[in-house]
Amino acid sequence: MTRIAFIGLGIMGLPMATNLVRAGHEVAGYNRGEAKRARFADAGGTAAGSVAEAVRGAEVVITMLPDSPDVEEVVLGPDGVLESAGAGALLVDMSTIAPATARTVAELAAETGVRAVDAPVSGGEQGAIDGTLSIMVGGEPADVEAARPLLEVLGGTVVHVGPSGSGQTVKAANQLVVAGTIQLVAEALTLLDAQGVELRSAVEVLSGGLAGSAILDRKAPGMLARRFAPGFRVDLHHKDLGIVLDSAREAGVVIPLGGAVAQLMAALRAQGDGHLDHSALLLGVERLSGK
Ligand code: NAD
Repeated sequence: MTRIAFIGLGIMGLPMATNLVRAGHEVAGYNRGEAKRARFADAGGTAAGSVAEAVRGAEVVITMLPDSPDVEEVVLGPDGVLESAGAGALLVDMSTIAPATARTVAELAAETGVRAVDAPVSGGEQGAIDGTLSIMVGGEPADVEAARPLLEVLGGTVVHVGPSGSGQTVKAANQLVVAGTIQLVAEALTLLDAQGVELRSAVEVLSGGLAGSAILDRKAPGMLARRFAPGFRVDLHHKDLGIVLDSAREAGVVIPLGGAVAQLMAALRAQGDGHLDHSALLLGVERLSGK
């Protein structure tokens, strides 16, 4: 049994923290706003009144927040994780943030005696609920091994990919592939529909061939049913594609399709669809096609 503080009880964080409770750990959860804390308490967790209250006495602190500034505020800010955590505590940031921020957090944590790993995830809300996330971990080998038993409660694939920040770089690559694939599935569905092909049969046969993918299996049914409730919000994927483009520029790598899909995601957001699931890229293709 590990004493865990879990900060960020959103779409992903709430089911993840709940799985840790079910695995027998003592979890103090904190999120802004009473409603999400109450949902965690209903799920069997302990609701804390502040970051500091959750973190005090915790052996492991897990953060699952939207973006780099949120992690900086919660971890580095006043009354944040580093002010409240005891020396030797392990910080596991599972949010998707900039690799450079992950490295800074790890360095500043080390100055206060807190060990830090970056452990962003892939697998979506369903993966969080089922405890089958794919988790890409960056950090010192000993710290990654210390985090592993908890990460294996949350995920089915837990891989140490390199030093601090490299988990986030792998996650950026993941987001590039996911956005690009959703966009191509959206274009294929729009084309098939406009040509009068029955979409369910088309998706079934595409899934059995080389065009088959986890995206086609998991996202096409919602697209066909025109269900765009998140899941994974366009706003968050827009944030991630910013990380991808920055990372490519920093490395001197040219990613033309990545650039195009980043613009298409930005357009969706500019048109007021930032709150929808990223499978709403379908709506963007339809608008471009006058459908
Ligand atoms: P979310 O917006 O549903 O959850 C984030 C939570 O953090 C919210 O409840 C918000 O109120 C809380 N929060 C923000 N700032 C806070 C602060 N200062 N103090 C306390 N609470 C604060 O987002 P999500 O979908 O759960 O995603 C979380 C992270 O995981 C993001 O970085 C996202 O990119 C990544 N991610 C999401 C998915 C997905 O399918 N939703 C999949 C993989 C990775």
